[in-house]
Amino acid sequence: MTVKALFVGTDDDWDTFAPSLIATFADRALDVDLSRDHTPADVDYIVMAGSKIIEDFSPFTRCKALLRLWAGVEDIVNNPTITMPICRMVGGGLDAGMVEWVTAHVLRHHVGMDAHIHGQDGIWRNTVTPPLASERPVTILGLGALGAACGQALVGLGFPVTGWSRSQKDITGITCLSGDIKDAVKDAQITVLLMPLTPDTKHTINADVLAAMPNGAFLLNPGRGPLIKDEDLLAALETGQIAHATLDTFEVEPLPADHPYWAHPQVTVTPHIASATRPAPAAQVIADNIARGEAGQPFLHVVDRTAGY
Ligand code: NDP
Repeated sequence: MTVKALFVGTDDDWDTFAPSLIATFADRALDVDLSRDHTPADVDYIVMAGSKIIEDFSPFTRCKALLRLWAGVEDIVNNPTITMPICRMVGGGLDAGMVEWVTAHVLRHHVGMDAHIHGQDGIWRNTVTPPLASERPVTILGLGALGAACGQALVGLGFPVTGWSRSQKDITGITCLSGDIKDAVKDAQITVLLMPLTPDTKHTINADVLAAMPNGAFLLNPGRGPLIKDEDLLAALETGQIAHATLDTFEVEPLPADHPYWAHPQVTVTPHIASATRPAPAAQVIADNIARGEAGQPFLHVVDRTAGY
Protein backbone atom coordinates (compact mmCIF):
# COMPACT_ATOMS: atom_id res chain seq x y z
CA MET A 1 0.00 0.00 0.00
CA THR A 2 1.21 3.50 -0.81
CA VAL A 3 2.80 5.27 2.17
CA LYS A 4 1.55 8.81 2.64
CA ALA A 5 4.24 11.30 3.74
CA LEU A 6 3.22 14.85 4.55
CA PHE A 7 5.88 17.48 3.87
CA VAL A 8 5.82 20.36 6.38
CA GLY A 9 7.86 23.40 5.46
CA THR A 10 7.90 26.62 3.51
CA ASP A 11 7.65 26.88 -0.27
CA ASP A 12 11.44 27.25 -0.34
CA ASP A 13 11.87 24.12 1.81
CA TRP A 14 9.63 22.20 -0.58
CA ASP A 15 11.58 23.40 -3.61
CA THR A 16 14.87 22.51 -1.90
CA PHE A 17 14.07 19.10 -0.49
CA ALA A 18 11.11 17.57 -2.35
CA PRO A 19 12.93 16.73 -5.62
CA SER A 20 15.65 14.74 -3.79
CA LEU A 21 13.12 13.02 -1.53
CA ILE A 22 10.89 11.99 -4.44
CA ALA A 23 13.88 10.80 -6.52
CA THR A 24 15.32 8.85 -3.58
CA PHE A 25 12.00 7.11 -2.80
CA ALA A 26 11.77 6.10 -6.49
CA ASP A 27 15.41 4.90 -6.65
CA ARG A 28 14.88 2.77 -3.58
CA ALA A 29 11.53 1.43 -4.82
CA LEU A 30 9.77 2.88 -1.76
CA ASP A 31 6.12 3.48 -2.64
CA VAL A 32 5.84 6.89 -0.93
CA ASP A 33 3.44 9.65 -1.92
CA LEU A 34 5.11 12.87 -0.69
CA SER A 35 2.69 15.79 -0.63
CA ARG A 36 1.93 19.00 1.23
CA ASP A 37 -1.82 18.27 1.12
CA HIS A 38 -2.57 14.88 2.69
CA THR A 39 -5.53 14.65 5.03
CA PRO A 40 -4.04 14.42 8.57
CA ALA A 41 -5.83 11.17 9.45
CA ASP A 42 -4.26 9.47 6.37
CA VAL A 43 -0.66 10.49 7.05
CA ASP A 44 1.87 7.71 7.77
CA TYR A 45 4.93 9.96 8.25
CA ILE A 46 5.55 13.67 8.65
CA VAL A 47 8.70 14.94 6.96
CA MET A 48 9.36 18.25 8.68
CA ALA A 49 11.54 21.17 7.76
CA GLY A 50 9.94 24.29 9.27
CA SER A 51 8.42 24.52 12.70
CA LYS A 52 5.32 26.34 13.95
CA ILE A 53 3.55 25.62 10.64
CA ILE A 54 1.49 23.00 12.45
CA GLU A 55 0.96 23.45 16.19
CA ASP A 56 -1.64 20.74 16.84
CA PHE A 57 -0.57 17.26 15.75
CA SER A 58 -3.48 15.43 17.37
CA PRO A 59 -5.34 14.90 14.04
CA PHE A 60 -2.38 12.76 12.78
CA THR A 61 -3.83 9.65 14.35
CA ARG A 62 -1.97 7.02 12.29
CA CYS A 63 1.37 8.82 11.90
CA LYS A 64 4.23 6.46 12.74
CA ALA A 65 7.02 9.05 13.06
CA LEU A 66 7.87 12.71 12.63
CA LEU A 67 11.06 12.80 10.54
CA ARG A 68 12.91 16.07 11.02
CA LEU A 69 15.15 17.52 8.33
CA TRP A 70 17.11 19.55 10.91
CA ALA A 71 19.40 18.41 13.75
CA GLY A 72 17.89 20.60 16.46
CA VAL A 73 14.47 19.83 17.95
CA GLU A 74 14.12 22.37 20.76
CA ASP A 75 11.21 24.03 18.94
CA ILE A 76 9.07 20.87 18.81
CA VAL A 77 10.25 18.52 21.53
CA ASN A 78 7.91 19.95 24.16
CA ASN A 79 4.79 19.99 21.99
CA PRO A 80 2.45 17.64 23.90
CA THR A 81 0.41 16.87 20.76
CA ILE A 82 3.43 15.19 19.12
CA THR A 83 2.93 11.71 20.48
CA MET A 84 4.69 9.83 17.68
CA PRO A 85 8.52 9.30 17.78
CA ILE A 86 10.55 12.30 16.62
CA CYS A 87 13.60 11.33 14.54
CA ARG A 88 16.12 14.12 14.02
CA MET A 89 18.61 14.59 11.18
CA VAL A 90 21.95 12.92 11.73
CA GLY A 91 24.25 12.90 8.72
CA GLY A 92 22.54 14.49 5.77
CA GLY A 93 25.66 16.56 5.08
CA LEU A 94 25.38 18.30 8.48
CA ASP A 95 28.48 16.60 9.83
CA ALA A 96 30.67 17.44 6.83
CA GLY A 97 29.52 21.07 6.78
CA MET A 98 30.05 21.52 10.51
CA VAL A 99 33.53 19.98 10.34
CA GLU A 100 34.44 22.52 7.64
CA TRP A 101 33.04 25.54 9.54
CA VAL A 102 34.60 24.55 12.87
CA THR A 103 37.96 23.66 11.35
CA ALA A 104 38.06 26.91 9.37
CA HIS A 105 37.31 29.10 12.38
CA VAL A 106 39.64 27.18 14.71
CA LEU A 107 42.45 27.57 12.16
CA ARG A 108 41.66 31.27 11.71
CA HIS A 109 42.36 31.92 15.37
CA HIS A 110 45.13 29.34 15.63
CA VAL A 111 47.30 30.78 12.84
CA GLY A 112 46.33 34.37 13.67
CA MET A 113 44.98 35.08 10.20
CA ASP A 114 43.34 38.36 11.26
CA ALA A 115 46.66 40.02 12.03
CA HIS A 116 47.71 39.57 8.41
CA ILE A 117 44.34 40.24 6.79
CA HIS A 118 43.81 43.48 8.74
CA GLY A 119 47.45 44.49 9.25
CA GLN A 120 48.45 45.57 5.73
CA ASP A 121 50.27 48.67 6.96
CA GLY A 122 53.75 48.25 5.48
CA ILE A 123 55.28 46.93 8.71
CA TRP A 124 57.12 43.58 8.45
CA ARG A 125 56.18 41.84 11.71
CA ASN A 126 57.98 38.51 11.58
CA THR A 127 59.20 38.14 15.12
CA VAL A 128 56.44 35.88 16.47
CA THR A 129 56.53 32.18 15.69
CA PRO A 130 52.98 30.90 16.14
CA PRO A 131 52.48 27.70 18.12
CA LEU A 132 51.82 24.47 16.30
CA ALA A 133 48.42 22.81 16.60
CA SER A 134 49.95 20.33 19.05
CA GLU A 135 50.49 23.28 21.44
CA ARG A 136 46.92 24.67 21.13
CA PRO A 137 44.41 22.73 23.26
CA VAL A 138 40.85 22.79 21.93
CA THR A 139 37.74 21.73 23.84
CA ILE A 140 34.44 20.71 22.28
CA LEU A 141 31.41 20.97 24.56
CA GLY A 142 28.98 18.33 23.25
CA LEU A 143 30.37 15.12 21.82
CA GLY A 144 27.41 13.96 19.75
CA ALA A 145 27.23 13.42 16.01
CA LEU A 146 28.68 16.86 15.22
CA GLY A 147 30.98 17.40 18.20
CA ALA A 148 32.65 14.02 17.75
CA ALA A 149 33.13 14.58 14.00
CA CYS A 150 34.65 18.05 14.58
CA GLY A 151 36.83 16.75 17.41
CA GLN A 152 38.22 13.96 15.27
CA ALA A 153 38.94 16.34 12.39
CA LEU A 154 40.87 18.62 14.78
CA VAL A 155 42.76 15.62 16.19
CA GLY A 156 43.69 14.83 12.58
CA LEU A 157 45.25 18.31 12.31
CA GLY A 158 47.30 17.71 15.44
CA PHE A 159 45.29 19.65 18.06
CA PRO A 160 45.02 18.14 21.55
CA VAL A 161 41.23 17.82 21.81
CA THR A 162 39.17 17.47 24.97
CA GLY A 163 35.46 16.76 24.70
CA TRP A 164 32.71 17.08 27.28
CA SER A 165 29.28 15.48 27.28
CA ARG A 166 26.47 14.47 29.59
CA SER A 167 27.38 10.80 29.53
CA GLN A 168 30.97 9.56 29.49
CA LYS A 169 32.27 8.85 25.95
CA ASP A 170 35.22 6.90 24.59
CA ILE A 171 36.34 8.42 21.28
CA THR A 172 39.74 7.64 19.78
CA GLY A 173 42.14 10.57 20.05
CA ILE A 174 39.84 12.74 22.19
CA THR A 175 40.18 13.17 25.96
CA CYS A 176 36.55 12.59 26.91
CA LEU A 177 35.20 14.14 30.09
CA SER A 178 31.82 14.45 31.76
CA GLY A 179 31.04 16.08 35.08
CA ASP A 180 32.46 19.50 36.03
CA ILE A 181 32.61 21.66 32.91
CA LYS A 182 35.44 23.70 34.41
CA ASP A 183 37.75 20.69 34.14
CA ALA A 184 36.92 20.55 30.43
CA VAL A 185 37.59 24.22 29.64
CA LYS A 186 40.44 25.12 32.02
CA ASP A 187 43.23 24.51 29.47
CA ALA A 188 41.24 25.21 26.29
CA GLN A 189 42.63 28.06 24.21
CA ILE A 190 39.69 27.49 21.87
CA THR A 191 36.29 26.19 23.02
CA VAL A 192 33.60 25.06 20.57
CA LEU A 193 29.94 24.74 21.63
CA LEU A 194 28.09 21.85 20.01
CA MET A 195 25.42 21.03 22.55
CA PRO A 196 21.68 21.07 21.90
CA LEU A 197 19.51 23.69 23.58
CA THR A 198 17.70 22.15 26.55
CA PRO A 199 16.71 23.49 29.97
CA ASP A 200 19.99 21.99 31.28
CA THR A 201 22.26 23.58 28.68
CA LYS A 202 20.82 27.11 28.65
CA HIS A 203 23.49 29.60 29.80
CA THR A 204 26.12 26.86 30.16
CA ILE A 205 28.59 29.58 29.18
CA ASN A 206 28.24 32.09 32.00
CA ALA A 207 30.61 34.30 33.98
CA ASP A 208 31.88 31.38 36.09
CA VAL A 209 32.69 29.15 33.15
CA LEU A 210 34.22 31.99 31.13
CA ALA A 211 36.43 32.81 34.11
CA ALA A 212 37.59 29.19 34.24
CA MET A 213 38.96 29.39 30.67
CA PRO A 214 42.56 30.50 30.11
CA ASN A 215 42.94 34.27 29.73
CA GLY A 216 42.65 35.28 26.09
CA ALA A 217 40.69 32.19 25.02
CA PHE A 218 38.62 31.99 21.83
CA LEU A 219 35.00 30.83 21.76
CA LEU A 220 33.08 29.39 18.79
CA ASN A 221 29.32 28.86 19.02
CA PRO A 222 27.74 26.95 16.16
CA GLY A 223 25.45 25.18 18.68
CA ARG A 224 22.60 27.40 19.86
CA GLY A 225 22.58 31.04 20.97
CA PRO A 226 21.09 30.59 24.46
CA LEU A 227 23.95 28.25 25.41
CA ILE A 228 25.74 31.56 26.13
CA LYS A 229 24.64 34.18 28.64
CA ASP A 230 25.25 37.15 26.35
CA GLU A 231 25.88 39.80 28.99
CA ASP A 232 28.53 37.58 30.62
CA LEU A 233 30.27 37.01 27.29
CA LEU A 234 30.24 40.73 26.50
CA ALA A 235 31.81 41.41 29.92
CA ALA A 236 34.50 38.76 29.33
CA LEU A 237 35.27 40.26 25.91
CA GLU A 238 35.61 43.68 27.56
CA THR A 239 38.28 42.46 30.00
CA GLY A 240 40.07 40.39 27.34
CA GLN A 241 39.37 37.15 29.27
CA ILE A 242 37.86 36.08 25.96
CA ALA A 243 39.93 37.37 23.05
CA HIS A 244 37.34 36.71 20.37
CA ALA A 245 33.99 34.99 19.92
CA THR A 246 32.83 33.62 16.59
CA LEU A 247 29.07 33.16 16.85
CA ASP A 248 26.79 31.45 14.36
CA THR A 249 23.71 31.10 16.56
CA PHE A 250 21.88 33.62 18.72
CA GLU A 251 19.16 33.96 21.33
CA VAL A 252 17.09 35.87 18.73
CA GLU A 253 17.52 35.09 15.02
CA PRO A 254 17.99 36.96 12.78
CA LEU A 255 20.33 38.80 15.16
CA PRO A 256 18.73 42.26 15.60
CA ALA A 257 20.57 45.02 13.71
CA ASP A 258 21.26 46.96 16.93
CA HIS A 259 22.69 43.99 18.86
CA PRO A 260 26.13 44.78 20.33
CA TYR A 261 27.61 41.66 18.73
CA TRP A 262 27.35 43.14 15.21
CA ALA A 263 29.72 46.05 15.78
CA HIS A 264 31.95 44.42 18.38
CA PRO A 265 35.58 44.28 17.19
CA GLN A 266 36.18 40.98 19.04
CA VAL A 267 33.07 39.25 17.71
CA THR A 268 32.51 37.61 14.35
CA VAL A 269 28.88 37.00 13.44
CA THR A 270 27.95 34.33 10.92
CA PRO A 271 24.23 34.08 10.14
CA HIS A 272 23.39 30.51 11.26
CA ILE A 273 25.17 29.06 8.24
CA ALA A 274 27.68 26.79 10.00
CA SER A 275 26.05 23.74 8.51
CA ALA A 276 22.91 23.15 6.48
CA THR A 277 21.05 19.92 5.75
CA ARG A 278 21.90 18.86 2.18
CA PRO A 279 18.96 17.52 0.16
CA ALA A 280 20.51 14.39 -1.39
CA PRO A 281 22.14 12.80 1.68
CA ALA A 282 19.24 13.94 3.88
CA ALA A 283 16.77 12.19 1.58
CA GLN A 284 18.67 8.93 2.17
CA VAL A 285 18.32 9.37 5.96
CA ILE A 286 14.56 10.00 5.62
CA ALA A 287 14.19 7.04 3.24
CA ASP A 288 16.15 4.81 5.65
CA ASN A 289 13.71 5.62 8.44
CA ILE A 290 10.60 5.12 6.30
CA ALA A 291 12.00 1.78 5.09
CA ARG A 292 12.67 0.78 8.69
CA GLY A 293 9.23 1.86 9.82
CA GLU A 294 7.57 -0.11 7.05
CA ALA A 295 9.70 -3.18 7.89
CA GLY A 296 8.74 -2.94 11.57
CA GLN A 297 12.33 -2.09 12.59
CA PRO A 298 13.23 0.52 15.20
CA PHE A 299 13.71 4.06 13.88
CA LEU A 300 17.14 5.70 13.77
CA HIS A 301 18.05 8.97 15.54
CA VAL A 302 15.04 8.99 17.86
CA VAL A 303 14.88 12.01 20.16
CA ASP A 304 14.86 11.37 23.91
CA ARG A 305 11.92 13.55 25.04
CA THR A 306 13.02 13.50 28.67
CA ALA A 307 16.53 14.71 27.85
CA GLY A 308 15.10 17.15 25.28
CA TYR A 309 17.41 16.21 22.38
P1 NDP B 1 23.75 15.25 19.45
O1 NDP B 1 22.45 15.09 20.14
O2 NDP B 1 24.28 14.13 18.63
O3 NDP B 1 24.88 15.63 20.51
C1 NDP B 1 24.67 16.49 21.57
C2 NDP B 1 25.82 16.40 22.55
O4 NDP B 1 25.62 17.34 23.61
C3 NDP B 1 25.93 15.02 23.19
O5 NDP B 1 27.29 14.66 23.35
C4 NDP B 1 25.28 15.25 24.54
O6 NDP B 1 25.73 14.38 25.56
C5 NDP B 1 25.73 16.66 24.84
N1 NDP B 1 24.87 17.24 25.86
C6 NDP B 1 23.52 17.39 25.87
N2 NDP B 1 23.10 17.91 27.02
C7 NDP B 1 24.21 18.10 27.78
C8 NDP B 1 24.42 18.58 29.09
N3 NDP B 1 23.40 19.01 29.86
N4 NDP B 1 25.69 18.61 29.55
C9 NDP B 1 26.72 18.18 28.79
N5 NDP B 1 26.58 17.70 27.53
C10 NDP B 1 25.34 17.67 27.04
O7 NDP B 1 23.63 16.57 18.57
P2 NDP B 1 24.43 16.95 17.23
O8 NDP B 1 25.88 16.73 17.48
O9 NDP B 1 23.81 16.33 16.06
O10 NDP B 1 24.10 18.51 17.14
C11 NDP B 1 24.46 19.38 18.20
C12 NDP B 1 23.76 20.70 18.03
O11 NDP B 1 24.34 21.46 16.96
C13 NDP B 1 22.27 20.62 17.61
O12 NDP B 1 21.44 20.33 18.71
C14 NDP B 1 22.03 22.01 17.08
O13 NDP B 1 21.65 22.84 18.14
C15 NDP B 1 23.42 22.45 16.55
N6 NDP B 1 23.45 22.57 15.09
C16 NDP B 1 23.78 23.79 14.55
C17 NDP B 1 23.85 23.95 13.19
C18 NDP B 1 24.26 25.28 12.61
O14 NDP B 1 24.23 25.46 11.39
N7 NDP B 1 24.69 26.23 13.42
C19 NDP B 1 23.56 22.85 12.26
C20 NDP B 1 23.25 21.61 12.93
C21 NDP B 1 23.20 21.49 14.29
P3 NDP B 1 25.48 12.79 25.46
O15 NDP B 1 26.43 12.33 24.37
O16 NDP B 1 25.86 12.29 26.78
O17 NDP B 1 24.03 12.60 25.09
